Amino acid sequence: MSWAERLSPVVKSVPPSGIRRFFDIAAEMKGVISLGVGEPDFITPWHIRESCVHGLHKGYTAYTSNYGLLELREEIARTIYDKYQVTYDPRTEALVTVGVSEALDLAIRAIISPGEEVLIPEPCYVSYKACVTLAGGQPVPVPTTMEHEFRVTVAQLEKLVSPRTKALLIGYPNNPTGAIMPKQELLAIAQFAKKHDLIIISDEIYADLTYQGMHTCFASLPAMRDRTILLNGFSKAYAMTGWRIGYALANHEFIAAMNKIHQYTMLCAPITAQLGAIEALLHGTEKMESMVAEYNCRRQLMLEGLHELGLKCFEPKGAFYIFPSIKETGLTSLQFAEDLLKTEKVAVVPGDAFGESGEGYIRCSYASSISNLSHALERIGRFVKKFQ
Ligand code: PLP
Repeated sequence: MSWAERLSPVVKSVPPSGIRRFFDIAAEMKGVISLGVGEPDFITPWHIRESCVHGLHKGYTAYTSNYGLLELREEIARTIYDKYQVTYDPRTEALVTVGVSEALDLAIRAIISPGEEVLIPEPCYVSYKACVTLAGGQPVPVPTTMEHEFRVTVAQLEKLVSPRTKALLIGYPNNPTGAIMPKQELLAIAQFAKKHDLIIISDEIYADLTYQGMHTCFASLPAMRDRTILLNGFSKAYAMTGWRIGYALANHEFIAAMNKIHQYTMLCAPITAQLGAIEALLHGTEKMESMVAEYNCRRQLMLEGLHELGLKCFEPKGAFYIFPSIKETGLTSLQFAEDLLKTEKVAVVPGDAFGESGEGYIRCSYASSISNLSHALERIGRFVKKFQ
């Protein structure tokens, strides 16, 4: 039997991330402008880096509690209360994780038994379906459309819910579309969750990167706190992707179950990153807001630029992605992304990497300088002209 044949069938059934493949091709070419990466182009603000250096000087190099430093959990609970008026006990209802990535995996593994279904509005972040599959569950994509601004509706959810449905996994502001959900529509989804007795996993990693409209924390909706696992982190808002730090807030039963997996698999998040995260929450707002203001300028540049090129485009309200339709070129998302990379050296991600309903779109990240974005627009313009 070959080594490949000995691999777990579940692992084999999960395709490799469609984003990473493009990074790898682009990394080997010279002169590429990358709009492919979903991470801030800013370096973590100095005061956050300094707090970590200071911690190292003082000798903070050991494990922390599995749940994370209590001071960090207290700051997390305080921040969420200040922003959304939802109360969590930092001792039992907060878990510090290795990025939102780990929190997502723990949340799914803590609640999903083999064969249970998870409703996932699509296009969606690449890890959602993979994590559900790896946990033995069944992801059930709920397609959203540009015509409805990529917002999921109760009517669509009702069509796909079944007696096996255990949870609904939502991520707004959305990666890759930039969609947000207005409070009224989330209230209807909350009713739906109650009616079908579903758990909500709400990935709110882009909550602070909302440019238009207000972000609504799902757990803040009436009667939703106890059925919601709220995920958030530091990667995007504080430009801390490499620090690998995130968190989950939920009722103590969910958090204890997640911590049971976490204590055996991860033990704890790195102490140095936790120290940086405390500083980010204590003193990071001003710097974060200036980065958000910069993303907003870039968002407008991309939106206007893509419209001028004749590409239909939904105006993203949050995150740092724009998701134009490329249907009029007659190419598939993959052909478009591959040819654009080869001929004009601009890396974007084909929309179908985010699920079937992303076919006909490309994801451009505007976490890149204005100069890079302007050049990328020129090159994309040259490319699409060939098809007009
Ligand atoms: N959730 C979404 C929607 C994301 O876009 C990402 C990263 O791109 C993550 C979670 C993972 O974030 P982290 O760096 O905190 O693991």
